[in-house]
Amino acid sequence: MMISQQYQDNIDIVLQKTEEAEAIVVGGASGMSAAAGYNWYRDDEMFRKYFDAFAKQYGIDSIFGGFYHKFCTEEERWAYLATLINFVAEVPVGEPYKDLEKILQAKEYFILTTNQDTQFLQVFPEEKVSAIQGDWTSIQCSGPCHDQVYPFVEQAKEMCDHMEGTKVPSSMVPKCSECGGPMELWVRSFVFLEGFKYRDEHKKYREFLLENQNKKVLFLELGVGRMTPMFIQEPFWNMTYSWPDAFYITINPNDALLPEQLKDKGLAIHEDIALVLRDVQAELEKDRKQGAV
Ligand SMILES: [Zn+2]
Repeated sequence: MMISQQYQDNIDIVLQKTEEAEAIVVGGASGMSAAAGYNWYRDDEMFRKYFDAFAKQYGIDSIFGGFYHKFCTEEERWAYLATLINFVAEVPVGEPYKDLEKILQAKEYFILTTNQDTQFLQVFPEEKVSAIQGDWTSIQCSGPCHDQVYPFVEQAKEMCDHMEGTKVPSSMVPKCSECGGPMELWVRSFVFLEGFKYRDEHKKYREFLLENQNKKVLFLELGVGRMTPMFIQEPFWNMTYSWPDAFYITINPNDALLPEQLKDKGLAIHEDIALVLRDVQAELEKDRKQGAV
């Protein structure tokens, strides 16, 4: 493939800004997982491999489609959710995440994500990641009657082992230990538990921002779509605009936007995230080997 001058220029700017930055704030959304090969909105090979029984039985056509499907019984709903949790815990971490880890390894950094698939958490230490929309491996009371989030990967595996068709045995449907009511996945919904775990996710992030706001900061936005700009994109724009030494880079094959006010403090790269991270990582490694960094 011919590499355009424009592409190479973009890679060079990402490299330079990464090397210069005293702190890097990464915002990762669904485009990052899509770049890793995981698409929650599509009926693809990966979906069929794990969810075929549900596709056939209920006409579900994507992972999110199943998540919002109204199952008639709790036994069927939990069979789907257990399959989902098991899927999330089992599938390998995508290459873009590994490349990002290598890019960030020698830097001060923090990651904010709206992704619920725990891919960031599988690569980066928990204290450096804020999953602000919950994650698909934890459950909560649907009340919610009490402030506690429970890890659910082991039970989900067990449920998958005991599944009959698209049902789990009634005895395995999780119930709240306090009120006896139904449980829910700990992800954004009408009953999303914004308790101490949620507040802690925000606190870690706020502390990092406070510590670094006067330094040379790079905001690196990866795959934020147009649906929910309020969690990552708009705060990144505002901080880049108002902080003295901040720079903003967005990498997105479809929706890379740079506001007019940031034209001297930012860059929008309309490219495949996986490709850009791979190439930046490769060049960074070359530089580091040569002792240039
Ligand atoms: Zn309860």
